[in-house]
Amino acid sequence: MLATPLTSAEIEGIRARFPILRREVHGHPLVYLDSAATAQKPDSVIDAESDFVRTSNAAVNRGAHFLAGEATEAYEDARDTIARFLGVDDNEVVFTSHATEALNLVAYALGTASSGRGAGSHTDAARFALHEGDEIVVTELEHHANLIPWQELAARTGATLRYIPVLDHGGLDLDAAAEIIGERTRVLAVTHVSNVTGAVTPLDRLVPLARAVGALVVLDACQSAPHLPLRPRELDVDVAVFSGHKLYGPTGIGVLYGRAELLDALPPFLYGGSMITTVTMDRAEYLPSPQRFEPGTPRLSQAVGLAAAVRFVEEFGMARIAATEHALAARLLDGLVRVPGVRMLGVDNPAPRVALASIVIDGVHAHDAGQVLDDRGIAARVGHHCAQPLHRRFGVSASLRLSAGIHTTPDELDLAIDAVAGIRPFFG
Ligand code: PLP
Repeated sequence: MLATPLTSAEIEGIRARFPILRREVHGHPLVYLDSAATAQKPDSVIDAESDFVRTSNAAVNRGAHFLAGEATEAYEDARDTIARFLGVDDNEVVFTSHATEALNLVAYALGTASSGRGAGSHTDAARFALHEGDEIVVTELEHHANLIPWQELAARTGATLRYIPVLDHGGLDLDAAAEIIGERTRVLAVTHVSNVTGAVTPLDRLVPLARAVGALVVLDACQSAPHLPLRPRELDVDVAVFSGHKLYGPTGIGVLYGRAELLDALPPFLYGGSMITTVTMDRAEYLPSPQRFEPGTPRLSQAVGLAAAVRFVEEFGMARIAATEHALAARLLDGLVRVPGVRMLGVDNPAPRVALASIVIDGVHAHDAGQVLDDRGIAARVGHHCAQPLHRRFGVSASLRLSAGIHTTPDELDLAIDAVAGIRPFFG
């Protein structure tokens, strides 16, 4: 049962909290339909970040002065807020620069574990090592950030990279998945929601396959965290990553959730200060997670801003946000499929979806289509959305993507659909 959607009055109230929505673009009110690339920020996030810089800025940890204590508390409070949001423990939340870094961190650390190098808990790390003959499984849906690090890990370890193919309707071939995920699989890395089709991945079908063979499951939750409740433990995944800037938070911060047992076993990714217990001229011993993965001076105002973003969505609750966007997704799909000459990528996939659609317009290049929308103040994304293999699978090189956020109204979608309908006639 879906939760109660947000009322129009609530959405109006939400819109008033996003200062950028007061802007006009080319003489039209801004219609921001590029939240999948980066979300806009409400006042509370902008204020939290700037208040921290104005009043509490200091290097965290070990400072003997008042501000250092206050900054450390704010940073660790932010971690605690994220942990509660995900339903996990604080030491399972690592701050990174973005989701891309989080995925690289895991893949790199697994590679180090595989090489037998890396000081610290060697023996534990060996449990997660990959060797020649092992397999890493991804899907044909993946964003490059959840593909290339695994290609590199395969190259470093001699493991083989395999992928679950996409069917013509745009969903994953689950029969093939059952064949591909087997005794040799050590890692399954998969997106929660496709950033091209908006479809939710059937994790309930994939994760048990990986569990049955003892493989690690890595979830790219970039496109789900802003739109659906995200509970890594309930999903039974070992790792889940997302980017702060897509969840109405600041740029420059990402979140890596990792099961404590895994994080405590993995060697670090980056080395330096703030991550060690003792250092001699020969070697170093590392702190447990999360400090072991957060060397250097961390992203302080960004963490504080991200916590404010989480509090913002929690005011409404992810279940209500999901219910609201479910209706927006249906409206977007229904509207776009009616436009002659428009093909929506993955439209026939019956999976639930978020309010995101990528389209190809007969005879019109995505970039030209994007320009027409921009002329009407509508911000959409054009290109391959860092998913070249998936575009190739659909037989196209680029598409135009519309993606909604918590502030999107049905009227805005109608306006965009209307603008899309005008594109082919415009180009004659
Ligand atoms: N994964 C998915 C599905 C994405 O949509 C994105 C961003 O577009 C990323 C990973 C990478 O996110 P970031 O660029 O913030 O690291």
